[in-house]
Amino acid sequence: MLLRSVDFGEADRILTLVTDAHGRIAVMARGARRSQKRFGGALEPFAIVEASVAMGVGEVGRLAEARVLRAFPRLIGSLDAMREAGHALELVRSVSPQRHGEPRLLDAIAALFEELDRDATSVGVFARSSLRVLAIVGLAPRVTACVSCGRAPEPGQAALFDAGRGGIVCRACGGGPLRLSGRARAFMIDALRAAEGGPENHEVDARESPSEIARTDLSDVEAALDAFVKRHVRS
Ligand SMILES: [Zn+2]
Repeated sequence: MLLRSVDFGEADRILTLVTDAHGRIAVMARGARRSQKRFGGALEPFAIVEASVAMGVGEVGRLAEARVLRAFPRLIGSLDAMREAGHALELVRSVSPQRHGEPRLLDAIAALFEELDRDATSVGVFARSSLRVLAIVGLAPRVTACVSCGRAPEPGQAALFDAGRGGIVCRACGGGPLRLSGRARAFMIDALRAAEGGPENHEVDARESPSEIARTDLSDVEAALDAFVKRHVRS
């Protein structure tokens, strides 16, 4: 899946791809600028492609062939959906290991694209998939118990969140600048648990995604995630 495309010279492009077998790789697509047909639609964003790549001794491999396995026409018909998908790809680009396969990352993004393609107005899918991506790479925020003393709030209880300390912090341990409503916290716990279920669960996740989460609760989740990603993920 294409993460980034940069023009190179008169005719070529350098692409950053996230792959199931080799993680994040950079490849040179020769002639990609000169001829749109050279790699079909496989160099457009938001598609799952099969690519054959020759990796040489350097950092940048060479794209030999590419074809689209799965396109998401309704996703790319919606600016909102494309923005959500674009943010998710940015996150994956930041966290995906170079030349080290992590197929679950691709699964997480594919599940998000499927969901946005099915319903471009789905609420909370980006937050849900961001949590899944963070969990896969071992960067999940801790929202079940205070990061300092380990005391767990009651289920459904609101909590204070400190991105710098990596999760929720109880008042006795100093609290945090952001508030997570009980429902926001439940949403995050649910998303992180689903992520632990592994790639084979993504169909289930998509169907069960709680589209009924209220905007106010979702904005708690998004504010916490935004602060957390800024703090813990390189850009
Ligand atoms: Zn505490």
